[in-house]
Amino acid sequence: MENTSVAQETHTPDTQFLSLNPSNLEVIGEVTNTSRVEIDTKIEKAKKAQKLWAARPDAERKEILLKVAEALQQNSKELAEWITREQGKPLNGPGANFEMQGCVGWTQVPASLDLPEEIVFEDETRKDIVYRNPIGVVAAIAPWNWPLMIAIWQIIPSLRMGNAVIIKPSEYTTYCSLEMIKVINSVLPEDILQVVTGRGEVGGYLTSHPEIGKIMFTGSIATGKKVIEASAKNMARLTLECGGNDAGIILPGLDIAKHIEGLFWGAFLNMGQTCACLKRLYVYENDYEKVVKALADYSSHIPMGNGADEGIVLGPIQNKMQYDKIQDLIRDSENIGADFIFKGQKPDLEGYFIPVTLIGNVDNGDRIVDEEQFGPVLPIITYKTVDEAISKANDSENGLGASVWSDNLDEAQKVAAQLEAGTVWINQHGAIHPFVPFGGAKQSGYGVEFGIEGLKAVTVPKVISIKK
Ligand code: NDP
Repeated sequence: MENTSVAQETHTPDTQFLSLNPSNLEVIGEVTNTSRVEIDTKIEKAKKAQKLWAARPDAERKEILLKVAEALQQNSKELAEWITREQGKPLNGPGANFEMQGCVGWTQVPASLDLPEEIVFEDETRKDIVYRNPIGVVAAIAPWNWPLMIAIWQIIPSLRMGNAVIIKPSEYTTYCSLEMIKVINSVLPEDILQVVTGRGEVGGYLTSHPEIGKIMFTGSIATGKKVIEASAKNMARLTLECGGNDAGIILPGLDIAKHIEGLFWGAFLNMGQTCACLKRLYVYENDYEKVVKALADYSSHIPMGNGADEGIVLGPIQNKMQYDKIQDLIRDSENIGADFIFKGQKPDLEGYFIPVTLIGNVDNGDRIVDEEQFGPVLPIITYKTVDEAISKANDSENGLGASVWSDNLDEAQKVAAQLEAGTVWINQHGAIHPFVPFGGAKQSGYGVEFGIEGLKAVTVPKVISIKK
């Protein structure tokens, strides 16, 4: 049910939940909870559909998924507009159109990859072959930051390997997700991909259901731990991407002008609401002035506003919960006497806007450094020695990504080898790729997505061992 009135609160009593446009607080629609009975029915249907889907020749599944990629491409303009309206990221720059291109690419690649059986041992006495079988029904819990692209990361590899998927979009980005699922389902056979909606208990009920064989979750560490608990009931296999507090280290003497664009977007992609954004920047003390000046100058030229407007490349924070969290960290930084080096222009709009903010005179131990801000507020910390920078970068419960910035690649690689993270980028940050495995160390989660490793993660290995 759509209407266009303006709401101040996202939470209304009972099971109602309003999805809002974060740029102007226009109500997009009401999100209702899928009931437990409905979830049970969907899982039953998924089980039946999965058997038929898995029985199809592999080449047929590939072909269907390549048609899904075509359908996404054909509908990318409308879907990008939906993303901007509900998620808030601008159409342009590395925004909603970029997210849709990611959806197409991350569909084409898993659709094209192969995971054939493998003879892992053979001699005159025996032959052992590993097959990669589907798991069954996959429960996918998708987040609100890259609502369509991350959903695709969960859906497509699972389908490629012969599973059925039931996806729960974030309550904050339900409508754009439903639009994309409609497009995908215009190509897929019935019930192979289904959706449940709501908040509060839907994800927990779905993931702990006895018929779920695999859970793919992207979100917070706290909820990731609840997903682990849910999986104790059904022993579902898990892929958990629980975010990060990625450190970036600029090694002494970097030619900052050459890297400023990469540094800026490494930190502020999607307003910093990206799991693998650069969230803490460590800078050699003698280079500090040069680096902060370059970052402030660059930031001052990047327009923020309603992402539907041409020329805008930075948008609002997606939701009130996240907005409040970031404001709380800003207040805490003010209270401890941090140096607000730069604060961008806040647009004169009603939405959840927080300007790009650079914060100095903070260190490990301060909340803005230790906690994932998931927003456009970057703490910049000085170091005296590279060893100190490495030690501070590693001083975190998170370990998703990290980056090293240097014009000397040998030095950068030596530092990269010492950083505790699933991916360490050199002279870039968050540069994920559909062929390259992506996952976290420490409490950033376990399992990996993308590429062949990502396909393996949605299968169960089965060995056939033959005596000769
Ligand atoms: P959460 O991590 O709390 O995830 C919310 C989603 O998880 C909802 O769909 C919810 O559905 C579901 N859920 C809750 N409990 C369970 C459970 N036991 N089993 C399965 N699913 C469950 O995200 P929020 O949106 O509340 O954001 C909180 C923080 O997470 C943010 O501030 C940000 O720091 C971080 N975040 C990280 C992201 C990343 O990319 N890594 C993306 C988004 C947020 P239901 O309520 O119906 O159970």
